[in-house]
Amino acid sequence: MYAARANLKPLVVAGHEAGGQLSLTTLVENFPGFPEGIQGPELIENMKLQAQNFGAEYLHGAVIDTDFSTRPLRLNIEGEWMETRTVIVASGASARWLGLESEQKLIGHGVSSCATCDGFFYKGKRIMVIGGGDSAMEEANFLTRFGRDVTLVHRREEFRASKIMLDRARHNPKIKFLPSTVVEHVFDVSQSLVTGVRLRNLKTGEEWEQDVDGFFVAIGHIPNTKVFKGQIETDADGYILSKGGARTNIPGVFHAGDVQDRSYRQAVTAAGAGCMAAIEAERYLEAEGH
Ligand code: NAP
Repeated sequence: MYAARANLKPLVVAGHEAGGQLSLTTLVENFPGFPEGIQGPELIENMKLQAQNFGAEYLHGAVIDTDFSTRPLRLNIEGEWMETRTVIVASGASARWLGLESEQKLIGHGVSSCATCDGFFYKGKRIMVIGGGDSAMEEANFLTRFGRDVTLVHRREEFRASKIMLDRARHNPKIKFLPSTVVEHVFDVSQSLVTGVRLRNLKTGEEWEQDVDGFFVAIGHIPNTKVFKGQIETDADGYILSKGGARTNIPGVFHAGDVQDRSYRQAVTAAGAGCMAAIEAERYLEAEGH
């Protein structure tokens, strides 16, 4: 939107998961401007229409390779090389899922990867959080504000989470820990609603079912930076290393949103970061005399 309004002729390469994580969610209540909330996919569609109204073009398909060693910059989109003066990388981070078929079918219907986004819907309800890292501890603690109780399920006895985060969760009377336990199935796909899970204790082999209304998977995210590997500097986990503002290590290549942000990961912060990146791109082009 900002790039189009600055007459920069932006091309949006929408990727195979167009709309990203917002397209996987249902009601979004924390994006400013929508007092009644808005469905994630509708928000995405509105943003697209708004950008197109100012002349942004959309291309379906994904970037499969890049060459940022030359000018103009080069991108391979579905087998065809294209040239551009600037690139804004907003390829996001995909939530890591357990991979159960039932889990996948219930995403947005009780299965969530974002407590900040969806916790509010589980007031007085039974909540389950999966994971043993800082995200899982943070989400479990946060969700006790809403839920009747929170069960934290982790596959090992030892926790990857920092001591302080783990202690905070352990001291929270609303959180019950189930270590060395894995989820075998999420019910109930036939109702399109989470109603419970089947669990298995890895030490004893015991299997049982537990009623649950909200199922939060907090086992990490995977930043979508594979196609920029060896060119854009990232940290060990693949998140883009910012060089200040929206700048990457490559002049003319900027970052926006979760692909660089492991901390806030919100639609509104990503939108703001997109604005920053477009303004930086505009300034860069101006300085380069374009
Ligand atoms: P993480 O540290 O990589 O932890 C992921 C957790 O998920 C691990 O406990 C892992 O179990 C578990 N897991 C992974 N795949 C699984 C699977 N297929 N089935 C079951 N469990 C699975 O990820 P994170 O918690 O999102 O944290 C990412 C980074 O952000 C960390 O550096 C963290 O410190 C930081 N962070 C910090 C804060 C904070 O300080 N406020 C908050 C959130 C995140 P195993 O341990 O068995 O591998």
